Amino acid sequence: MAQNQEATVVFGVVNETSETESRVALTPDIVTRLKRSAVSCIIESGAGIAAEYTDEDYEKAGAKVADRATVLAEADALGFVDRPSAEIVASLKPGQWVIGMLGSFTDADYITALEQAGLVGIGIEKLPRKLSSAQSMDEMTSQNSVMGYKAAIAAADAYGSFLPMMTTAAGTIRPAKALVLGAGIAGLQAIGTLRRLGAVVTAYDVRPASQGEVESLGAKFLDLGLDFSKGQGEGGYARALTAEEQAQQQAAVDEKAAGFDIIITTAKVPGRKPPVLLTAAGVNGLHRGAVVVDCAASELGGNVEGSAVGEQVTEGGVKLIGAPYLASGVATTASNLLSRNVADILVHFIRDGKLSQDLSEELDNALVVAGRAEAPAEKTE
Ligand code: NAD
Repeated sequence: MAQNQEATVVFGVVNETSETESRVALTPDIVTRLKRSAVSCIIESGAGIAAEYTDEDYEKAGAKVADRATVLAEADALGFVDRPSAEIVASLKPGQWVIGMLGSFTDADYITALEQAGLVGIGIEKLPRKLSSAQSMDEMTSQNSVMGYKAAIAAADAYGSFLPMMTTAAGTIRPAKALVLGAGIAGLQAIGTLRRLGAVVTAYDVRPASQGEVESLGAKFLDLGLDFSKGQGEGGYARALTAEEQAQQQAAVDEKAAGFDIIITTAKVPGRKPPVLLTAAGVNGLHRGAVVVDCAASELGGNVEGSAVGEQVTEGGVKLIGAPYLASGVATTASNLLSRNVADILVHFIRDGKLSQDLSEELDNALVVAGRAEAPAEKTE
């Protein structure tokens, strides 16, 4: 499949199939970067246009622009923002690699379908994020950071008043009061952006370590009066709360939320359904015109009861925005960061000019979710 003597691996990208997706898994500067690692790129015509990258930009960078069928046939490995549709999987050949957020934590059937098609699946969701060599591959960090930024912008846009305090000839407008629930990568970025827009920000996270981070950004840490001092689980991530703890947390959040104008939620626990932090009663307790952006909204549910992907206005006039796709709204930069993450994963798996996996390596062992080669035999003394 290789296209020329120098390039040994062909990396392909096609148009993302989802209507809400504007990002692309390859940007022109990464084509140039990959060339230095002996990877040639092939991209479907128009795949980058929603992110403002034209076919000419890709050609100038040295990529081949082709129709979808040619990309799918010629690529040794394909990169995706989301994951290949069943239709794409059906048109791939055994031995091809697919790299993307494959959903291996929640969708075992999909991984089985990749296996049955003889594909090698690299599930970015499995990236061991604490591994320093993997940091440039961390798509969750790059995209969550973009999402947190855009969540603040979306909230400001939907809110019917100013975020900063404003003194005008007609009187003084008080600043908006914003609450950020979940202060990880996305939450911290939302806090910083809301603060830059002039809101007074309060934030909460179940991990005790987050308090210092929240305060270092000039936000107040919300005291729920509950002790989740063991809220941190493995690898620095939150653990799932017990049903009783969840109920206590929901009651406390519902009560404290009432005074806020803007609420942004970003709470997740890796590999699990997002926890409900604000119940329907909590939403009903908000004032008319309050805006809630649920970045964890998904088919499995989100952080806010009643949130759905899209916008809905409750009876009380609260704007509830279920918005897991926000990074797609900053498509140019989000694509560029994501493309770098995917390219670094691809290059990691190229050894002696070929795609190969070595399951004795921590990174390979974690990321290969389908088409696993034989694990190395245990060493005997
Ligand atoms: P995430 O997207 O899984 O979760 C977002 C946030 O939600 C987390 O801060 C989590 O603690 C919080 N949360 C979960 N359940 C909650 C609940 N019931 N109530 C309130 N908050 C809840 O995680 P993330 O944002 O990607 O990262 C989480 C942590 O991991 C951060 O401290 C981050 O700095 C760290 N991290 C480290 C590395 C690294 O070392 N390379 C890479 C990425 C993230």
